[in-house]
Amino acid sequence: MSTAALASRKGGPRTEGSAVDTDHRGSPLVLRGVTKAYGDQRVVAGIDLTLRRGECFTLLGPNGAGKTTTLRCALGLTAPGGGTIRLAGLPVPERAREARMRVGIVPQIDNLDPDFTCAENLMVYGRYFGLRDAEIAARIPELLAFAGLEGRHEARIQTLSGGMKRRLTLARALVNRPELLVLDEPTTGLDPQARHLIWDRLKQLIRSGTTVLLTTHFMDEAERLSDRLAILDGGRILTEGAPRELIATHIEPQVVEVYGDWNEGSSALGVETWAARHAAALSQRHEVSGETAFCYVTHPAPLLAHLATQHGLRYLHRPANLEDVFLKLTGRELRD
Ligand code: ADP
Repeated sequence: MSTAALASRKGGPRTEGSAVDTDHRGSPLVLRGVTKAYGDQRVVAGIDLTLRRGECFTLLGPNGAGKTTTLRCALGLTAPGGGTIRLAGLPVPERAREARMRVGIVPQIDNLDPDFTCAENLMVYGRYFGLRDAEIAARIPELLAFAGLEGRHEARIQTLSGGMKRRLTLARALVNRPELLVLDEPTTGLDPQARHLIWDRLKQLIRSGTTVLLTTHFMDEAERLSDRLAILDGGRILTEGAPRELIATHIEPQVVEVYGDWNEGSSALGVETWAARHAAALSQRHEVSGETAFCYVTHPAPLLAHLATQHGLRYLHRPANLEDVFLKLTGRELRD
């Protein structure tokens, strides 16, 4: 069976260059002015969001930005302090249970039942949606195949690797053919091979027309998967748009990262001193972080010509990316 059959086909498979549904009345999720506080701490500080059917939308933000709490409010798993939420067309939290029947959820921490086999986990989860055993049983082979777990019906959860557990959790979230798939940090803690496999599966689902909402703090994940994304910090959306659009809007197109030991004559002066003396004149914007000076430029030629004559300095010239936008908007300070 094709990937398109795994989830709801309401959005229809995507064709190259086709637009996602921009009819907000049919949006799988609408948030208006959603807030949430724990004690004195305002964790979600007024989020507005309208998901378009058939798109992959990402909430990207540093640790503690409020991504998980926003998702939990959207799903009716945490009561918001204020604002309105419509999930699958239904008001949340009032009709959250009913709305969740049409949603697939992949939580941040795998909560598969360790006492059950792979197939039993899918069966038990399917019953929660009121599906008949025969219907679920008929679906189990395609779900396990999607998870790359063919022939592992009887495998116990403890025998699976972290990547396999994630994929099984993803397959489990599809048991009810959801019209919206929500994933909270789907690849945190996975090795690169396992991450790529999850991305591959998610891309298949997105191509087949499933609407996907995910949270991540990985830029590459957000950039690879999302049609649109919002960068969150302090419980607020700082900016929202397509990844390329955000880069074009917020950042100079090219970046030169300068590092190494700058020498002038016989003095070893370091990158910070080089930046203080030259970076402003040769770039539109620059910042020094650790032992690297990040120079943001539209026309890099004068900077590159200068660097070629400086002793001890090395540099990396690259196009601007989402991480540059993220760091510009959220800062470089550690969050933990
Ligand atoms: P993110 O998913 O972006 O890392 P979270 O939504 O998990 O952020 O958390 C945002 C803030 O809310 C953090 O400072 C976190 O400690 C706090 N927080 C989250 N859940 C609770 C809770 N149940 N009780 C108290 N504080 C919480």
